[in-house]
Amino acid sequence: MSITKEIAVLSGDGIGPEVTSVAVKILQAVCERHDYTLKTENHEVGGASIDRFGRPLTRETLEACKKADAVLLGAVGGSQWDDQPKDKRPEAALLGLRKELGLYANLRPIKTYESLIHASPLKEEIIRDVDIMIVRELTGGIYFGRPRLIEKTDTGERGVDTLIYTTEEVKRIVHTAFETAAVRNRKVTSVDKANVLDSSRLWRRTVTESAKQWPEVTLEHMLVDNCAMQLVRYPSQFDVIVTGNMFGDILSDEASMITGSIGMLPSASLGEKHAMYEPVHGSAPDIAGENKANPLATIASVALMCRYSLDMPEAAREIEEAIETTLKDGFRTGDISTDPSREYVVDTTEMGSAVLKHLNPNLQPGTLL
Ligand code: NAD
Repeated sequence: MSITKEIAVLSGDGIGPEVTSVAVKILQAVCERHDYTLKTENHEVGGASIDRFGRPLTRETLEACKKADAVLLGAVGGSQWDDQPKDKRPEAALLGLRKELGLYANLRPIKTYESLIHASPLKEEIIRDVDIMIVRELTGGIYFGRPRLIEKTDTGERGVDTLIYTTEEVKRIVHTAFETAAVRNRKVTSVDKANVLDSSRLWRRTVTESAKQWPEVTLEHMLVDNCAMQLVRYPSQFDVIVTGNMFGDILSDEASMITGSIGMLPSASLGEKHAMYEPVHGSAPDIAGENKANPLATIASVALMCRYSLDMPEAAREIEEAIETTLKDGFRTGDISTDPSREYVVDTTEMGSAVLKHLNPNLQPGTLL
């Protein structure tokens, strides 16, 4: 009897529904190929949930995510919800999901595709062979620390945020980073601001101590300002980068430009019991509803889901190879097209079909099952 995998699909807003529907079809295809049964349940999140239920994240959606083997998220947000109070905005759903599902480790692979080498704003010789995994701590640090407020003073106002890291939080993320590096190129770069911040000094001391459990993995420490510079100077020096919430947020967006488009970047957010997969990009309201979005980041997120949550490492490799071959064949959505006269410039569903064709050769060209 075939094993059933249950996925909660939170398409969200803007291009979210367009890219997730394609990615679900890819997942369906690999499940069929490996004799798994895929069950998907769709739930509202973000602006779509505000419109329907008055809140960006409902208890029902959260419960469905907790029950599922994994969660696939599209994107949330849009200007029509910008005037909502902070805790009612679509983006509040993301922080809620991360916190409630305990998703403390965010993995963002940054890899150069040979056929997209010209799509990056960086020089070819700098980005060739880049294969970095950024491991970002996701439920601690300055985005969650208290107190957090804006208050009146005698002379005006002051804004306060608080940066806290505990040894437990650092040990947990270091474990993820070293286990990841152990099956890659066995190098971890821990990024902090230990020359200024006490929380970073604790971070550095804890990383150094914990690293002794993985003697086969080389550890180096790097200050965040230097890391920002090294990522554009010599990015292939990195294997796994582990860092806190805010530094990881900024460095991973910087590193995204190595691949040429934010439409190429997948991510996995992992906890002890739950996991969520989503493209790095947002809801792209400027192209929403036009079937123009690049679905490859979401398709690659589904590959990560197969690897980290569904116990289907072979399916993960197949999806990643299918993406690579599709790009080699010359298929490009608008965001990654550099020479339209020599490429097939396609829309969202056609790109999905092209990937699917490599997973299911019986498919007729141009049709997405
Ligand atoms: P964005 O990532 O949505 O878009 C930035 C630019 O990249 C746009 O020009 C967009 O067209 C393009 N782009 C993004 N994804 C693409 C894709 N798959 N294919 C082709 N082009 C793509 O960022 P933004 O414009 O700053 O934010 C728009 C909304 O998304 C905001 O409401 C923001 O808060 C939200 N957002 C959500 C998430 C999330 O859900 N995880 C992440 C970032 C931003």
